Amino acid sequence: MKIGVLALQGAFIEHERILNKIGVDSFEIRNIKDWSREKDGLIIPGGESTTQFKLLNELELLEPIKNDIESGLPVFGTCAGLILLAKTVENEDFDRISTMDINVCRNAYGRQLGSFYTEDMFAGNKIPMTFIRAPYIKGVDKDVEVLSNVGNHIVAAREKNQLVTSFHPELNESTFVHEYFINMVANKK
Ligand code: GLN
Repeated sequence: MKIGVLALQGAFIEHERILNKIGVDSFEIRNIKDWSREKDGLIIPGGESTTQFKLLNELELLEPIKNDIESGLPVFGTCAGLILLAKTVENEDFDRISTMDINVCRNAYGRQLGSFYTEDMFAGNKIPMTFIRAPYIKGVDKDVEVLSNVGNHIVAAREKNQLVTSFHPELNESTFVHEYFINMVANKK
């Protein structure tokens, strides 16, 4: 198994570190040539979704990524990655990758609570969660499975081949969420 990690901006090295820890091969995607390499799944890291979106357009990666996700490529988006995958983002009326039936609120926790740490349930397991100027999910379509709620807000969800978290599991030592994703990939193969 090989996972491509989008490496244009943000916390991509941290994802590679966790994959390495659980014995999964990965490589960085920085351009269309990297994208053409064989892969079983994609991780879109946290960072700044506006910057990542701009680079995806400039590098002509947006359409190929969107097409492959729509064809079933397993994808895991954290934080900014979640925003890029959402079909709707509150008060922002333009498309990004826009493959997942969720409605998202950007910078949803405001300035004071912009970044925080907590421990809560994800798919029936208590895990550490680091939030950094995080979005949360305001609404989901019927095909979307909610995997985690923190304080009345949805912070993790899955729709078929797509997994998103508004927190950063790659910044803590728990490998649970990455293993969950790798199971999705393995079950698809
Ligand atoms: N606030 C960022 C955005 O809107 C996301 C923050 C993150 O990825 N940690 O893109």
